[in-house]
Amino acid sequence: MSSARIFDVGSIREDFPILCREVHGKPLVYFDTASSAQRPLQVIGAVDDFYRRHNANVHRGVHSLSQEATDLYEGARGKLARFINANSEREIVFTRGTTEAVNLVAQSFLRPRLQPGDEILVSHMEHHANIVPWQMLCEQTGAVLKVIPINNRGELEMEALPGLLSERVKLLGLVHISNALGTINPVAEVCRLAKSWDIPVLIDGAQAIPHGPVDVQALGCDFYCLSGHKMYGPTGIGALWAREATLEAMPPWQGGGEMILKVTFEQSTWNDVPAKFEAGTPHIAGAVGLGAAVDYLSSFDPVEMVSHEKQVLDYATGKLEEIDGLRIIGTAGNKAGVISFIIDDIHPHDLGTVIDHHGIALRTGHHCAMPVMQFFGVPATARVSFGLYNTRQEVDALIEALHSTRGMFA
Ligand code: PMP
Repeated sequence: MSSARIFDVGSIREDFPILCREVHGKPLVYFDTASSAQRPLQVIGAVDDFYRRHNANVHRGVHSLSQEATDLYEGARGKLARFINANSEREIVFTRGTTEAVNLVAQSFLRPRLQPGDEILVSHMEHHANIVPWQMLCEQTGAVLKVIPINNRGELEMEALPGLLSERVKLLGLVHISNALGTINPVAEVCRLAKSWDIPVLIDGAQAIPHGPVDVQALGCDFYCLSGHKMYGPTGIGALWAREATLEAMPPWQGGGEMILKVTFEQSTWNDVPAKFEAGTPHIAGAVGLGAAVDYLSSFDPVEMVSHEKQVLDYATGKLEEIDGLRIIGTAGNKAGVISFIIDDIHPHDLGTVIDHHGIALRTGHHCAMPVMQFFGVPATARVSFGLYNTRQEVDALIEALHSTRGMFA
């Protein structure tokens, strides 16, 4: 990629004004990107510019501002489509995020197809967003939720998968990268196996999308769900990708303005895709910010970006392993920038609170993946997660803080 920006962490950090601030008198170290990434000036500026200069409702106005807002909103759809190698922008439905995208597929695509006794397959490492909507659907239809097991390293038990596939399975939902363990799943291989039974596959891409190129066509999935705030964009905006023919065949799931062609009291008819799935005024500024986030991520050579994050991950893993009594939860062979851990009998919440006083933001809890915690027999973990702005020096600050915290609890 000859036009790519040189991957220089120092200059990248200058894009993120929040990284200059202090917390409890210490320079902020932000290790909670898996919960929500920080926003670069490019995204903040795009949202600011939208409200200052172009703000109006989309699709409905002949006036100039409305047309500008529509162009920006639809332009963001096109950017996202190209970013994930969709066939066209009509394959992108804007949603509030991954959670809403999964619920949309559950209610619009799957619900009409389910009979009592049918099965929905998910893995043991799913975020609640890829469990609970299917459980609700099972309650509504009499279908049954089945689980692909994981091993002690936090990897999918691929040997168990063929035995779980059958004509009863009406959808397989899988997380691309686990937010609790960092495991990168062999998505293309799972899709290939599912296809031999004609089973549609939904991929929860919330964590994968900021960590390298995603090509929905190469993966071979049927649905891909993502969130803007995980990829350096705004909260409250995300997307569902599905092939146009799939979306065409799905009924709308929310009714209202924008999603109709004609309304009478007797009957209404639906707009084309993707508008059919975007009832009401959308999060226009959010979409504009998401488009700017796509531009931002696309400005880097993905290989350099992935390699930087991997270096920080490997460095941090090595350093954490040296700490007495520290156990890493999730040691898959193929991992992205997430490390969950526990230390002796220090409760992760206590650890997080003390570490915060060192200016370091890490996450503690079940990470919306309670079945993962149950599998590993822990109530919670502490989790550090990395973005393109993190450095080895920040890891050193964490290690120092962990040593002094251990001393406090000894
Ligand atoms: N799936 C995974 C793997 C996640 O990490 C998250 C966010 N923590 C979600 C789904 C839900 O994303 P959102 O809250 O943006 O809808």
